[in-house]
Amino acid sequence: MTRAVKRAFKFRFYPTDAQAAQLSRTFGCVRLVYNMALQARTEAWTLRRERINYNATSALLTAWKKTDELAFLNEVSSVPLQQALRHLQTAFTDFWARRAQHPRFKSKKRSRRSAEYTASAFRWRDGTLTLAKMTEPLDVVWSRPLPQGCTPSTVTVSQDAAGRWFVSLLCDDTITPTPAAGAVGIDAGIDSLLTLSTGEKITNPRHERADRKRLARAQRDLARKQKGSANRAKARIKLARIHARITDRRHDHLHKLTTRLVRETQTIVIEDLAVRNMVKNHRLARAISDAAWRQLRTMLEYKTAWHGRTLIAVDRWFPSTRLCSTCGALAQPMPLDVREWTCRCGALHDRDVNAARNILAAGLAVTACGDDVRPQRESSRTGQSSAKQEHPRATKGIPVL
Ligand SMILES: [Zn+2]
Repeated sequence: MTRAVKRAFKFRFYPTDAQAAQLSRTFGCVRLVYNMALQARTEAWTLRRERINYNATSALLTAWKKTDELAFLNEVSSVPLQQALRHLQTAFTDFWARRAQHPRFKSKKRSRRSAEYTASAFRWRDGTLTLAKMTEPLDVVWSRPLPQGCTPSTVTVSQDAAGRWFVSLLCDDTITPTPAAGAVGIDAGIDSLLTLSTGEKITNPRHERADRKRLARAQRDLARKQKGSANRAKARIKLARIHARITDRRHDHLHKLTTRLVRETQTIVIEDLAVRNMVKNHRLARAISDAAWRQLRTMLEYKTAWHGRTLIAVDRWFPSTRLCSTCGALAQPMPLDVREWTCRCGALHDRDVNAARNILAAGLAVTACGDDVRPQRESSRTGQSSAKQEHPRATKGIPVL
């Protein structure tokens, strides 16, 4: 039996000067429209307790385009601007559902430069892609084949901080799920990227340590350069290139890993690391591993859905590290450098493997108890409470970030 799925295929492309200029202008307009609509929605709410929805912002956009000051919005395709309003709507929906923070303004320097085109705004013919307001097709490097006879439904163009251009095509594809059995728990680490409840440790991609050193040096270089100088601009590009290389290698690494896990295993249990708790930590290693964790989770979400597997996220407060996976006793809090510990029951634990086993057990408890298990906080933070009776809150199925 095959399953129909939506799948994104990302490729590099090399725009002509005219295309690059048109796309840069589009990115700028997308950012402006998003920010103006966010401002309008926020003002309406704080001043008048009025909720402005997508349709209302769409009407605003039409009005903006008719003013002299904003007439330049007509120079770019209207579709990416409409899509920006849709993205803002989604951001608010996630905010109201307490899945995300309040939407923030897009910054010229830090925000992703991207524009989304739906079917009415591009032409797909004989394997060439031409965007609205352009005469020539994009010079795309087709580094892997698209599904047979596929017609993209959405095309997203973006440019990363290192100046590279990418186009992502959303296509209909089919997947033939294969049967799998068993369950695995995954613990996120800093030393080793991930630890599985099977005892397997997945290390960071090759060269990452060296790349990180280079990254730290490039950051120091950038900090020393005078603001606004040409050397500073050069240093910034250099830093972005190193960043891009680390991200790319990670991405490949995580893709291979998640594909293997999903192929081999029926049930995958992960920790529900709350993003809002993680973004405060500015340490480099931490920031990179957090980004990797979010990526891993996103990949697991769609791949488990594709293959009909179960993904369970268990709550973060769960003391997975110091809970003995053999007898269920809770050990004293231990510093990060303790890699191994022995429980009173005699079990010798590798810290991360033990955590992964506990995550797995917590996830399986959820599937046994049903979908909606209410949280029961640790009865005593210091005591030796029998943690086996705890039911960590968890979500069965596809969790939301
Ligand atoms: Zn024990």
